[in-house]
Formats: sequence, C-alpha cells, structure tokens
Amino acid sequence: MGQVPDKVNRAVFEPLSLIVMKIICVGRNYSEHIEELGNARPDTPVIFLKPDTALLQVGQPFYIPDFSSEIHYEVEVLVKVNRVGKHIDKKFAHKYYEEIGLGIDFTARDLQEDLKSKGLPWERAKAFDGSAVVGTWISKKNFDDLQHLNFSLMRNGSSVQMGNTAQMLWKIDELIEYISKYFTLKTGDIIFTGTPSGVGRVETGDELTGFIEDNEMFKLTIK
Ligand code: MG
Repeated sequence: MGQVPDKVNRAVFEPLSLIVMKIICVGRNYSEHIEELGNARPDTPVIFLKPDTALLQVGQPFYIPDFSSEIHYEVEVLVKVNRVGKHIDKKFAHKYYEEIGLGIDFTARDLQEDLKSKGLPWERAKAFDGSAVVGTWISKKNFDDLQHLNFSLMRNGSSVQMGNTAQMLWKIDELIEYISKYFTLKTGDIIFTGTPSGVGRVETGDELTGFIEDNEMFKLTIK
C-alpha cells in the first residue's frame, strides 16, 4: 500500500522538474512604442512573465493561434541570466549575464486590448505557446556598448522595426535591479527588454528576420 502514493506523487510532480527557466518581459520601455499604442508612460517598469512553454526555438515556424485575428510582432533585445541572484544592485548587474540575443514577444493584440479594457491580466494575450521567439546568442564581449546597439526586424525583406538600446527608458542593468527585487533570477532565465515602435500584424506566409547590428539573430516563417 505504501508504494502507491509514492508512484502517484512521482507521476504528478515529474513534469515540474523539467521547468528550468522563466521568461521575464518588460513592457513600455521605449517612448515611441508607448505613444503608438496610446499608453501612459509608466513610473516604474511594466513587468510580465511567460512560461517555458511559450518558448519558440530557432528553426521552428510560428503558427497563428485560432483565438486571435491580430497577432503582432514585437522585436526585443534579450538578456540571458547566467547566475542566481536576488536584490541585485545595478552596479553589479553586468555580472549576471554574458550573452545577448534577439527575439519576438508575439502578442495577440485584439485579446490584449480586451483584457486591458477590463483591467485583467495579459497572460492569455502574451504568454501562449510559441509567443516567445528566442534566436541565437552572442557574447556581449562582441559589443563595445550594450546601451548603443542597433537592432531591427525585417518582414518579407522590408524593415518594419528599427531600434537602438540607447532609447530604453530603463537600461538593462536597471531592469535587472528592478526585476530581482521581486523574482529570484536563475541561470537560464531570459529577459525580454521591450520593443521599439513599428509593431504590426503578421500574416500567414510572412518571413520575419531579426538583426543586432549586422548579425542575423533569427529567421522564422508564419504559418
Ligand atoms: Mg513586448
């Protein structure tokens, strides 16, 4: 008899052991993007989370989910956390990441507008499966100044979003200080640092390509 509950517990809890990382996203971190969506400029960073199941790996297509007719791309610079930390002072934040990436925070804008208008959490619009595109990673040592990085998104060969990390309202190290007051950062966690202006809708058949400076960081097809 004693073995039965043991087995049941293992079956229930085993999947949890596969969760090794979380995705922390920053909203409204670029002035022109705040203006294009008609949002208020926040007094503190806007933070939300995506689960590990939101991750869309390099080489995978993105499938438009049937619960939205307005999926928007949001290209964002990513930071990969490389050690555990809590209450990290911004002076020491640079010690907590070694690699920089680029990704897309896919957003069901129609659903988000509905949730926002009701004052409800955004998760169904932001944290669904495949909503976090994560491209390849580059050592930060390849860049002279992380707060002056040009990055861009091309849609079907045309540039649709162009940003520079100098335009961030809160810089990477300030974000790490702020986020780590609330959430312990762990090795492998990924921070999405916010999108510049130019967000827009994707259509089936689109090809999206992301760049940091001249480095192609991801390419994906919309299905
Ligand atoms: Mg975003």
